[in-house]
Amino acid sequence: MAVVTDAVAVAIQIGATNAIKKHKRKTTMVQITPCIRCGKNRIISKTWTEKIGESKVVRTDTVCPDPECQKIVEEQLQVRNDRMRQVQEQSLKRRANFRRKKVDIVLK
Ligand SMILES: [Zn+2]
Repeated sequence: MAVVTDAVAVAIQIGATNAIKKHKRKTTMVQITPCIRCGKNRIISKTWTEKIGESKVVRTDTVCPDPECQKIVEEQLQVRNDRMRQVQEQSLKRRANFRRKKVDIVLK
Protein backbone atom coordinates (compact mmCIF):
# COMPACT_ATOMS: atom_id res chain seq x y z
CA MET A 1 0.00 0.00 0.00
CA ALA A 2 2.70 2.47 1.05
CA VAL A 3 4.67 1.62 -2.08
CA VAL A 4 1.72 2.45 -4.32
CA THR A 5 1.12 5.80 -2.64
CA ASP A 6 4.80 6.75 -2.89
CA ALA A 7 4.96 5.79 -6.54
CA VAL A 8 1.91 7.93 -7.32
CA ALA A 9 3.39 10.85 -5.39
CA VAL A 10 6.64 10.53 -7.34
CA ALA A 11 4.79 10.37 -10.67
CA ILE A 12 2.75 13.47 -9.80
CA GLN A 13 5.93 15.24 -8.68
CA ILE A 14 7.62 14.46 -12.00
CA GLY A 15 4.64 15.99 -13.80
CA ALA A 16 4.66 19.06 -11.55
CA THR A 17 8.41 19.58 -11.99
CA ASN A 18 8.11 19.34 -15.77
CA ALA A 19 5.25 21.83 -15.73
CA ILE A 20 7.32 24.36 -13.79
CA LYS A 21 10.35 23.83 -16.03
CA LYS A 22 8.63 24.14 -19.38
CA HIS A 23 5.84 26.62 -18.52
CA LYS A 24 3.48 24.65 -20.70
CA ARG A 25 0.27 22.85 -20.00
CA LYS A 26 0.98 19.39 -18.72
CA THR A 27 -1.29 16.52 -18.08
CA THR A 28 -0.51 13.96 -15.47
CA MET A 29 -2.18 10.65 -15.98
CA VAL A 30 -1.72 8.35 -13.08
CA GLN A 31 -4.26 5.62 -12.92
CA ILE A 32 -4.12 2.94 -10.29
CA THR A 33 -6.36 0.06 -11.09
CA PRO A 34 -6.81 -3.03 -8.99
CA CYS A 35 -5.48 -6.28 -10.43
CA ILE A 36 -8.17 -7.96 -12.55
CA ARG A 37 -7.27 -11.30 -11.05
CA CYS A 38 -6.59 -10.81 -7.32
CA GLY A 39 -7.92 -7.28 -6.76
CA LYS A 40 -4.72 -5.98 -5.18
CA ASN A 41 -3.71 -2.45 -6.08
CA ARG A 42 -1.30 -2.69 -8.97
CA ILE A 43 2.11 -1.08 -8.52
CA ILE A 44 3.87 1.21 -11.00
CA SER A 45 6.68 -0.62 -12.75
CA LYS A 46 7.59 2.09 -15.21
CA THR A 47 6.98 5.83 -15.62
CA TRP A 48 7.69 7.71 -18.80
CA THR A 49 6.53 10.83 -20.58
CA GLU A 50 4.88 10.90 -23.96
CA LYS A 51 4.38 13.93 -26.11
CA ILE A 52 0.83 14.16 -27.37
CA GLY A 53 0.40 17.23 -29.53
CA GLU A 54 1.46 20.21 -27.47
CA SER A 55 1.25 18.55 -24.08
CA LYS A 56 3.43 16.02 -22.40
CA VAL A 57 1.70 13.17 -20.66
CA VAL A 58 3.18 11.08 -17.88
CA ARG A 59 2.44 7.47 -18.65
CA THR A 60 2.80 4.64 -16.22
CA ASP A 61 2.93 0.91 -16.59
CA THR A 62 1.49 -1.03 -13.70
CA VAL A 63 1.98 -4.60 -12.61
CA CYS A 64 0.43 -6.78 -9.95
CA PRO A 65 2.50 -6.79 -6.71
CA ASP A 66 2.32 -10.58 -6.85
CA PRO A 67 4.76 -11.71 -9.61
CA GLU A 68 3.04 -15.08 -10.00
CA CYS A 69 -0.33 -13.40 -10.44
CA GLN A 70 1.14 -10.86 -12.88
CA LYS A 71 2.46 -13.73 -15.00
CA ILE A 72 -0.99 -15.30 -15.19
CA VAL A 73 -2.63 -11.95 -15.98
CA GLU A 74 -0.13 -11.35 -18.79
CA GLU A 75 -0.84 -14.80 -20.21
CA GLN A 76 -4.57 -14.10 -20.11
CA LEU A 77 -4.02 -10.75 -21.85
CA GLN A 78 -1.90 -12.46 -24.48
CA VAL A 79 -4.65 -15.00 -25.16
CA ARG A 80 -7.24 -12.24 -25.40
CA ASN A 81 -5.06 -10.18 -27.76
CA ASP A 82 -4.46 -13.21 -29.96
CA ARG A 83 -8.19 -13.90 -30.11
CA MET A 84 -8.92 -10.28 -30.94
CA ARG A 85 -6.35 -10.33 -33.72
CA GLN A 86 -7.91 -13.50 -35.13
CA VAL A 87 -11.37 -11.94 -35.15
CA GLN A 88 -9.98 -8.84 -36.84
CA GLU A 89 -8.20 -10.89 -39.48
CA GLN A 90 -11.33 -12.90 -40.15
CA SER A 91 -13.48 -9.83 -40.61
CA LEU A 92 -10.84 -8.31 -42.89
CA LYS A 93 -10.82 -11.49 -44.98
CA ARG A 94 -14.61 -11.47 -45.10
CA ARG A 95 -14.55 -7.87 -46.26
CA ALA A 96 -11.94 -8.72 -48.89
CA ASN A 97 -14.10 -11.59 -50.17
CA PHE A 98 -17.11 -9.34 -50.27
CA ARG A 99 -15.19 -6.76 -52.28
CA ARG A 100 -14.00 -9.41 -54.72
CA LYS A 101 -17.55 -10.65 -55.28
CA LYS A 102 -18.69 -7.11 -55.91
CA VAL A 103 -15.93 -6.65 -58.50
CA ASP A 104 -16.99 -9.90 -60.21
CA ILE A 105 -20.52 -8.63 -60.54
CA VAL A 106 -19.33 -5.33 -61.94
CA LEU A 107 -17.16 -7.11 -64.50
CA LYS A 108 -20.08 -9.24 -65.71
ZN1 LIG B 1 -2.93 -9.92 -9.08
